[in-house]
Amino acid sequence: MAKTYEGRAVGIDLGTTYSCVGVWQEEHQRVEIIHNDQGNRTTPSSVAFTNNHRLIGDAAKNQAASNPTNTVFDAKRLIGRKYSDSIVKNDMMLWPFKVIPGDDDKPMISVTYKAQEKHLSAEEVSSMVLTKMREIAEAYLEAPVNNAVITVPAYFNDCQRKATKDAGAIAGLNVMRIINEPTAAAIAYGLDKVANCSVERNILIFDLGGGTFDVSLLTIKDKVFEVKATAGNTHLGGEDFDNRMVNYFVQEFRKKNKVDISGNPKALRRLRSACERAKRTLSFAFDTVIELDALHQGIDLYTSLSRAKFEELNMELFRECMDIVESCLFDANMDRSCIHDIVLVGGSSRIPKVQQLLQEFFRGKDLCKSINPDEAVAYGAAVQAALLSEDVKKAPELVLLDVTPLSLGIGLMRDRMNVVIPRNTSIPARRTRAYTAKDNLTSVAIYVYEGERTRSSDNNLLGCFSLDLPRESCQPLLFVCFDLDADGILNVSAWEETNGCRNEIRITNDKERLSAEEIRRLIEEADMYKVEDAEFLEKASAMSALDTYVYNMEKVLRDEDMRSKLCPLEKEEIYLAIDKARNLLDGDIQRRETDWFVNCLKEVKGIFEPIIAKTK
Ligand code: ADP
Ligand code: MG
Repeated sequence: MAKTYEGRAVGIDLGTTYSCVGVWQEEHQRVEIIHNDQGNRTTPSSVAFTNNHRLIGDAAKNQAASNPTNTVFDAKRLIGRKYSDSIVKNDMMLWPFKVIPGDDDKPMISVTYKAQEKHLSAEEVSSMVLTKMREIAEAYLEAPVNNAVITVPAYFNDCQRKATKDAGAIAGLNVMRIINEPTAAAIAYGLDKVANCSVERNILIFDLGGGTFDVSLLTIKDKVFEVKATAGNTHLGGEDFDNRMVNYFVQEFRKKNKVDISGNPKALRRLRSACERAKRTLSFAFDTVIELDALHQGIDLYTSLSRAKFEELNMELFRECMDIVESCLFDANMDRSCIHDIVLVGGSSRIPKVQQLLQEFFRGKDLCKSINPDEAVAYGAAVQAALLSEDVKKAPELVLLDVTPLSLGIGLMRDRMNVVIPRNTSIPARRTRAYTAKDNLTSVAIYVYEGERTRSSDNNLLGCFSLDLPRESCQPLLFVCFDLDADGILNVSAWEETNGCRNEIRITNDKERLSAEEIRRLIEEADMYKVEDAEFLEKASAMSALDTYVYNMEKVLRDEDMRSKLCPLEKEEIYLAIDKARNLLDGDIQRRETDWFVNCLKEVKGIFEPIIAKTK
């Protein structure tokens, strides 16, 4: 039976580094990507804790360098994983925040909040990002948002999908559906519609984001999306391009000034964000400048960077992307000429050189890039959300059927995997299998696995439960039912029918999931944070107003013409005021009241405006 959902529904791309939210606009028959309170259409997936506040998104990212151990990002790399997982161990070495083992080998992020140690699961951190995305949508729609479609990478397994769904529940969202990111991107381009019933359409999704690179090969036929192959590198993306730029400028600075800034974290932070900005500019301009006043020991960094130099610095990484595309095609046993559509996804796929190499690889074929690549996933999720909403009367025509990426089955004797639902079965799906047990057993243990290997122990164990059998039964008949819902989440039940009696047990993989009680507690905590966040908002906007004003002042002062009109005394007065404001903004902002920023802005304006008026 179809579920119905009341109220507005949004699509959320919960990214490793950035998240994005969109909503279907019935009156315009298109998706609106919603900008946040900073005017940005994507929001950093970061959460920070201080002595007084919790910050999410841009506010968290902006203070990361001064509060590294309590600024959490990359929660998506942890979600649904075990602490002992080697991937977790390796990632931990790169993070400035602490991760410790919790109950059931669950990784917990340890932060200091209001002078107390607090342990957070990846679900909780992701729920905070989702809460932010929900608030962004609510502010724009001026209405409560309760429903969402959330996207996950195609290779996410059952545990990672469930944990993502739990994160939505903690954020108070009714998660209507979890869909694959590449599927969402294909929907955004309406590729499901060009694929008519009988002909299969092969689509390559090239997703180069902030920290990860994912290539997926999808086919659509009869409105069923099937992931044929995935490939990628979990540590290749925009941040790596930024790093190469930072290293280059550190060397340049050393050569020119004979000083090393690599030991100065604050200088490196300023340089890194300037590099990220420069990189974005170079996606549409051929040259850009980087100007950082008094970067280190009072020495300025005034330099320029051409697109060609940027490409040279990162060529090796760009080439690696193409090799991965090639290996994805190889895995799918498909020639490049068989690809009908190439879809660009992820902010870093905006880089012209990347697009050029990809187009050359596909022998000049046009790339799908009419939708912003960092918004395509949220766009598709919003279309899917509209489709599932009951208050959207005229939704785009589409029947979306995802398939299960991995086979699901149970472990039999001698380590054999018995597949109940084969991979690539379209979901939802329900299959029941009958098995006979040995004589005189009092109970049987049922192990549930996902994976393609023939030996169960080589596959991923999802859960285990036991079913009691009546005493002295002869070859009892057991039934095991796998019920895979539309999100790709599995429920397993088993019963036996010897002598007509039925003994049923259900597992929902509770070990991996948070209990209803736990989710309730976390929702209450989320409400508590909300009150505190509101208090901080006022201060944040005062800070932002001051920051913007000072930034604009600096811009005006860069103009040679303007500088020549000022006498040395005036210049000194203005720069002193700028310094004061910068110190206030870069200092321990926790300790400063909102009024400090408001008054400082008044003061700066009081100095700057009369002087500028005079020069006009
Ligand atoms: P995620 O990996 O979290 O899904 P996104 O797809 O939003 O992230 O990609 C974020 C990355 O894209 C960041 O590294 C950002 O610097 C980069 N990026 C965004 N816009 C551009 C642009 N115009 N040119 C180059 N890189 C960009
Ligand atoms: Mg992404």
